[in-house]
Amino acid sequence: MKVIFDPDIPEDFKEDIIKAIEEENIADLCKVCGGDTLYVAFLEGVLDVKCYECGHSYIEIELAEE
Ligand SMILES: [Zn+2]
Repeated sequence: MKVIFDPDIPEDFKEDIIKAIEEENIADLCKVCGGDTLYVAFLEGVLDVKCYECGHSYIEIELAEE
């Protein structure tokens, strides 16, 4: 799947996020709407990986507070 990142996500995190997405074995197409794009939102220390088309959430990744 293509991945679009929230502009607030630091460049350093992107590689790890992509790895996490690969480990989850998310299908190439959204199981809900058939979309082929993921959107990674960043809100209050949590990364939310969801379908860009329909918003179906696949993974939430909590970032440890420093
Ligand atoms: Zn979808």
